[in-house]
Amino acid sequence: MGTVAFIGAGPGAADLITLRGARLLAQADVVLHDALTDPALRDLAPQARWIDVGKRGFADSTGQEAINALLVRHAARSSLVVRLKGGDPSVFGRLEEELEAVARAGFEAIVVPGVTAALAAAADTRLPLTRRGSGRSVSLTTAMTRTGDLRASRTADTEVFYMAGKQLGALARRLQEAGWPADTPASVVSRAGWPDQLHSRHTVGDLARASVLHAGRPTVVVVGAGAVPLEISPALPRACAGSSAGENPGVLKSHICCSNSRLRAAGRGAQPAARSRRA
Ligand code: SAH
Repeated sequence: MGTVAFIGAGPGAADLITLRGARLLAQADVVLHDALTDPALRDLAPQARWIDVGKRGFADSTGQEAINALLVRHAARSSLVVRLKGGDPSVFGRLEEELEAVARAGFEAIVVPGVTAALAAAADTRLPLTRRGSGRSVSLTTAMTRTGDLRASRTADTEVFYMAGKQLGALARRLQEAGWPADTPASVVSRAGWPDQLHSRHTVGDLARASVLHAGRPTVVVVGAGAVPLEISPALPRACAGSSAGENPGVLKSHICCSNSRLRAAGRGAQPAARSRRA
């Protein structure tokens, strides 16, 4: 009888997976993985058969039913099946449907948490999601409803919107309808947790200007207390702030270089975050 381990891969680079997740991967017979997970994770389970069941945005390339069926089929003939999901499996990952399918078929399930995109975005931008006194609650929200409509709310001091990257203009309108003033700070982060993450600062009223910069990339939008710039921002690591392109290559450096070239390509659109501008 097989066990199915649902493992959060984290939002990007392979080293954001948990130790527990990595250890389980090393024992897996089969890995069913999302499109967003880092290919370098394969090195943690070279013994396993890797099957891509990824869905991206609106393109539902592998139906949920088919994924459920694959999980059950492989659990019946393996001792450990890993279902590797981007970010955290419990956040907008349709985990409930997969857990039910596995339980219905009589298999055991393990869930290993991962770093969700909102947390990676906060870390990358050095913008904490909670703030003493002003940011007491955080909401993780998907802007997309089941019918494909866009919905926004004002239920927490900091709201982090997933799956809204393609419709930032509409999100700006919905946010204002929900009571967010147009001058509320908003922070847009794409490919958080990857070396080429991008961050731009906006207000709710001008969110649409982030569209070009972050086009085609997984994006979260942070609105409210968690998007307010710090009075003094932490300094950039020396290798990023001081040196010119070509010297001291490294993860943080390449991150800044990518940010700059992308910002130039986007031209007038977004208002880049201070750390990108300084680099
Ligand atoms: N389970 C995932 C979320 C899956 S829903 C998690 O916990 O992060 C997919 C949405 O997550 C994307 O549309 C985007 O809004 C967000 N997302 C996923 N990875 C991201 C990343 N690296 N940077 C920014 N947003 C990301």
